[in-house]
Amino acid sequence: MDGAFEDENEQTITINEYLNKVEAEELEADLVLGGDEGKECTYAVGYMKRQAIFSCLTCTPDGTAGVCTACSLSCHDGHEIVELWTKRNFRCDCGNSKFGEFFCKLFPKKDVENAENSYNHNFKGLYCTCGRPYPDPDVEEQEEMIQCIMCEDWFHEEHLDLESANEIPRDEEGEPLYEDFICKTCSAICSFLTPYPRTIWAAGGKRDDATASNRKDKNVLEDVSSACGSGKLENDACSHGSSGDDNAMANLNGDSVPVAEASVIGENSEKNIGSDQSTKKADLQSTCVLGVNPATLLVSESKPLFLSKNWRDILCKCEKCLEMYNHKHIIYLLDKEDSIAEYEKMAKEKREEKLQKQEGAELSFFNKLGHVEKMEILNGIADFKEEFRTFLESFDTSKTITSSDVHQIFENLAKKRRRVE
Ligand SMILES: [Zn+2]
Ligand SMILES: [Zn+2]
Ligand SMILES: [Zn+2]
Ligand SMILES: [Zn+2]
Ligand SMILES: [Zn+2]
Ligand SMILES: [Zn+2]
Repeated sequence: MDGAFEDENEQTITINEYLNKVEAEELEADLVLGGDEGKECTYAVGYMKRQAIFSCLTCTPDGTAGVCTACSLSCHDGHEIVELWTKRNFRCDCGNSKFGEFFCKLFPKKDVENAENSYNHNFKGLYCTCGRPYPDPDVEEQEEMIQCIMCEDWFHEEHLDLESANEIPRDEEGEPLYEDFICKTCSAICSFLTPYPRTIWAAGGKRDDATASNRKDKNVLEDVSSACGSGKLENDACSHGSSGDDNAMANLNGDSVPVAEASVIGENSEKNIGSDQSTKKADLQSTCVLGVNPATLLVSESKPLFLSKNWRDILCKCEKCLEMYNHKHIIYLLDKEDSIAEYEKMAKEKREEKLQKQEGAELSFFNKLGHVEKMEILNGIADFKEEFRTFLESFDTSKTITSSDVHQIFENLAKKRRRVE
């Protein structure tokens, strides 16, 4: 308890801010780890669709390897670790040939190399076109970064190559109105998106839609979730800003927002996809939704792209398009589980489960106690609540709480106990 209040920076925090921060940090950690409890090396599972990955600058300073959560904790404890958030199609490298004499404590028998893994400068602890670390030691206030869903690098807003930050689709509160972002470099291979209806582009941005066709579409996506799935890299959690707790709760429930109408697309929709949203059913599509051979599309001008919720569902799955995705190595776009939104959705479900289990365990522990013990615990809680309430009432909540305030609460409690005994 003391430690939390020792740091001088922490002195400027109010009680509510502190509690919100703890909650938000917990939620964020759970979202990134995707329910992985960090006990076993994930190597045995093979290339995972998405998992949290860490790079150890102590062992592999050139950024040639990545390790799973469990390995980052067990094998690289005390090393200089970079947290890379999640990466797709990755298999834990811990202790393989890239690590020299170093052995993995959890799963030592690995192949010399994981040929399918890909590594970018993030593994050296560098991000964006400017190649800076995150957090950046030369910058006072860390700016949030946006992740490209294709190269999975992270970018500073001002390095996205936009004419103005207004081009980023956001609501009045500054929450992102897009689900996926594709960086300028990667957009060069996305000319196949040109004939798609406007519904695939996130509404709200002030960009003049040169990349999308000029088709007017009635069914413009209204519901573009601003949940954590938008690939934001923030210093303090997914809670987007100051009202941490409220946001965290909203995010937890965010997935229940009905999106049924969302994936209706332009003129070709009824014929080819109809109301079907699942990728599975639409797998064997014979007519191309695009109405053009994707190979004949001219390369469009490279421009950062902001995509709406469920845009991946609309992607054509005809034979020609599938061939094109494979050729471009972007077939993962058709896999729902590839998206951060889906990953976080599953993470939230696992988190809920975990919290419920915890609650259940606490309750069953409590129920096993005898009557006297139960009463003592309940009285203890009541005393603490009462003491805390008194403290809060006498305390100006806009002021900062210090460690001596906390000590005082416990001292008062101890005095009370002594009086009772
Ligand atoms: Zn591992
Ligand atoms: Zn290491
Ligand atoms: Zn390991
Ligand atoms: Zn940058
Ligand atoms: Zn990219
Ligand atoms: Zn097609």
